[in-house]
Amino acid sequence: MKEAIMVKVEKLNKSFGDLHVLKDIDMTVREREVVCLIGASGSGKSTLLRCLNFLEIKNSGKIFIGGEQIEEHTHDLNQIRAKVGMVFQHFHLFPHMTVIENIMEAPVHVKKIPKDQAYEEAKELLAKVGLSDKANVYPGKLSGGQKQRVAIARSLAMKPEVMLFDEPTSALDPELVGEVLVTMKKLAQEGMTMIVVTHEMGFAREVADSVIYMHDGRIVEVGHPDQLFHTPTQKRTKDFLDSVL
Ligand code: ADP
Ligand code: MG
Repeated sequence: MKEAIMVKVEKLNKSFGDLHVLKDIDMTVREREVVCLIGASGSGKSTLLRCLNFLEIKNSGKIFIGGEQIEEHTHDLNQIRAKVGMVFQHFHLFPHMTVIENIMEAPVHVKKIPKDQAYEEAKELLAKVGLSDKANVYPGKLSGGQKQRVAIARSLAMKPEVMLFDEPTSALDPELVGEVLVTMKKLAQEGMTMIVVTHEMGFAREVADSVIYMHDGRIVEVGHPDQLFHTPTQKRTKDFLDSVL
């Protein structure tokens, strides 16, 4: 049996002034699915993710999260962002808070969860990302890979239904990429629904249930990684893969 639909996008369009960045995007992501989004710089990948958690507001089209159509003017965007977690290339941790304070911040102040409960949950999340020993450290003392794992834990603390990752390893020194990918892979194996913009084709091959190739604001091709990477049906996809693999 197929899983329920977690994210559905219909005819999504987004412009910045005269620049038409997303053009009639249609996309469906089912529960527990991992979808990797690939494409050249400037193709609209970040804008698509940002529209999905309403950091950018679409010009037209429909966005459904967990079966519910979300409209910026009728929904509380903080509640939506709690449902749709996002991890960025640059970690955006609060530098003046310890690791555990970073993780507790949103549950305590946005969700109004009691502090002791938020603390216990934060400890569990730190264990999950392998950083139990860093609870009381400030982000400035962490490596990039550790910062990104804290950012993942912080996002998970809101108990999102779906996680968006925007090039989570692109800012990392090569030797730190693996630890973040391992954390993401674990999350995927636990059944988290994930949409991941990445240049890590190895990760996409191994973990993704489907890969979306975007070019110039359009979805050019969608397929299982085995198919899309080995026998792309579109010439543009093939040209892109030839340029990066
Ligand atoms: P990608 O993530 O695939 O590199 P982006 O979604 O970041 O692509 O960008 C797509 C296009 O939209 C680019 O031409 C970029 O310059 C433009 N763009 C992105 N954000 C903004 C913005 N806030 N204002 C104006 N143009 C933007
Ligand atoms: Mg981007």
